[in-house]
Amino acid sequence: MQTNKRIYLSPPHMSGKEQEYIAEAFRSNWIAPLGPLVNSFEARLAEYAGVKSAAAVSSGTAAIHLALRLAGVKKGDAVFCPSFTFVATANPIVYEQAEPVFIDSEWETWNMSPAALERALRDAKRCGRLPKAVIAVNLYGQSAKMDELLRLCDAYGVCLIEDAAESLGSTYKGRQSGTFGRFGIYSFNGNKIITTSGGGMLVSDDEAAIEKAKFLASQARDAAVHYQHSELGYNYRLSNILAGVGISQLEVLEERVRARREIFHRYKEALETYPGIRMMPELEGTVSNRWLTALTLDNGVTPEEAVACLAEQNIEARPLWKPLHTQPLFSSSVFYPHSDHERVSENLFSRGICLPSGSDLSIEEQQRVIDALAQLFETKGEKTWTAAMS
Ligand SMILES: *Cc1c(COP(=O)(O)O)cnc(C)c1O
Repeated sequence: MQTNKRIYLSPPHMSGKEQEYIAEAFRSNWIAPLGPLVNSFEARLAEYAGVKSAAAVSSGTAAIHLALRLAGVKKGDAVFCPSFTFVATANPIVYEQAEPVFIDSEWETWNMSPAALERALRDAKRCGRLPKAVIAVNLYGQSAKMDELLRLCDAYGVCLIEDAAESLGSTYKGRQSGTFGRFGIYSFNGNKIITTSGGGMLVSDDEAAIEKAKFLASQARDAAVHYQHSELGYNYRLSNILAGVGISQLEVLEERVRARREIFHRYKEALETYPGIRMMPELEGTVSNRWLTALTLDNGVTPEEAVACLAEQNIEARPLWKPLHTQPLFSSSVFYPHSDHERVSENLFSRGICLPSGSDLSIEEQQRVIDALAQLFETKGEKTWTAAMS
């Protein structure tokens, strides 16, 4: 039945022009990885973000891995990373046999807590083991407190890498998200705000470093006809065909941001009228692309109940990211809470969900999500509801 068509969390949304670029790749037989569309995609994204240089790669994860290599991360080094994020932020640290140290979130952005970072850096300095890099993440499109994080990284001389996989098109004090650290990374995975079906981008103002990234990403071939290698490389470059998809997606990025922000505001209008429902904040001076609408429930309804209730209506929703320091994979890693009595990431995980936020979500589909939640809140969240009403 059409009325119960599955609603996905964040499905790909094509612009309609992708096929033209793909056809161009076929016409010119640039089917191999690399080619003119890759160069053009890199140039256009660099211009959009306002950075000097960009390297298109096969995923956001690959871009993070390259950034860590360029920051000189080696076996046994520490790398600081938010706990409240997708596992792909931290995995490349482990690829290099370095050790992730997890930093908690703070309430205003849900991202890396400058207070926790400061304590972690102070401890690390005292032990003579400063991290090789700090990775900041801009979750669900909301920029972290970049000024505070950068000030700390500068004070301790540590390289900041900005994982902007979820925040392409967002701004912090008027500047594009992903351009604050020495390196920034974007993802074009199928669920992100724009997609190449799979892909990523490493950006930096350090043009030499980006050249080095391109070298590492294409098997680290030295300048010789006989395939000479003196460094360990990867096969991480983006294909020319997918770059064509990326170019056409980049052309509609601003529209996509607008659509997701409108979706967020419709949810906000409808759901914040219920007691205990609070939308993810937007820090003053920042504009979030609202990649996913995220909110917390303080009305007696658990994230599991909300997700299950929506699933019954054929609607995909998710709890917020499970903090990495609570994942079995990282059970032996160190964690710095926001304060002695506050573990913000754990608190958010226990109370929050993400709602379907695809930029092609229709008003009718969104109403289905809202109606399902409203019904749940009015029944399960009843006590809070009547108490607040009386
Ligand atoms: C999606 C995502 C990544 C990884 O990007 P891929 O392109 O899927 O490899 C990294 N970090 C965050 C925060 C993400 O959401």
